[in-house]
Amino acid sequence: MTETGQKLLGAIEAGGTKFVLAVGLSPSDITARHTIPTRDPATTLAQAAEWFEGQGNLGALGIASFGPVELDRTSPEWGHITSTPKPGWANCDIAGYFSERLGVPIGFDTDVNAAALAEYKYRPCKNATSLAYVTVGTGIGGGLVIDGQPVHGAAHPEMGHIYPQRHPTDQQFDGICPHHGDCLEGLASGPAIKARWGESLSQLPSDHEAHEIVAAYLAQLCHTLIAISAVELVVLGGGVMKTNRLLELINARVSELGASYFPGQSKHRIVAPSLGDDAGIIGALTLARTA
Ligand code: ZN
Repeated sequence: MTETGQKLLGAIEAGGTKFVLAVGLSPSDITARHTIPTRDPATTLAQAAEWFEGQGNLGALGIASFGPVELDRTSPEWGHITSTPKPGWANCDIAGYFSERLGVPIGFDTDVNAAALAEYKYRPCKNATSLAYVTVGTGIGGGLVIDGQPVHGAAHPEMGHIYPQRHPTDQQFDGICPHHGDCLEGLASGPAIKARWGESLSQLPSDHEAHEIVAAYLAQLCHTLIAISAVELVVLGGGVMKTNRLLELINARVSELGASYFPGQSKHRIVAPSLGDDAGIIGALTLARTA
């Protein structure tokens, strides 16, 4: 509770290596934040709860989680991390834990849907009707917001696992996705780049073929998103996207792939996150507000 009696919103960006925690009066007004490493569920969730208990009275908590997660409100598994290979975390009732321990309403979605929501609502020039947020890092995942609502359907999008057309000079690599081999994540995620060329994309020389190859794969996802949903804005974040000129290369490839065919082509834009690395935690606060 603040001096004016307004209750704080709490937020968790639950990632595979760290949990980012924050409280704020609104999603754009974070008043405190804290990061803890992701250990086993019991330790991690207890540490997070202790930090929130020290922040005062929360009105609601938003959780933006790594997945897969159950988002169907009518399912008894709602709010669970479901089939993750991360040791100990499969079937973890993360929303239930905080609901019980903190006694507050919980907003819950994937980390990338939350980031998409944050970019949709809090971009400085807020003029897109629809927006996709794709993170390219340890994995590749994306969230889609249409008319202000994250797209869920039967579950949540898994856009990192589409199969791109293989690049002519990248035919030998099998891909590293444990489920699909050479899906997009298996070909263009940070670990896939390291497995193929021994270094991260930003460490490789700027004239190395890896830049064109990775751009070609990521451009196919952007093209597919535009073709399927006519999404206006595709925001590309994550560690791999910090590589110099990668966004530029992707934009050039997407134009080629579109071949001046799409209606409204001039309205589709592929951009960097306007909220930087804060999209996830601001998204989690947005989930708290709607809880
Ligand atoms: Zn895959």
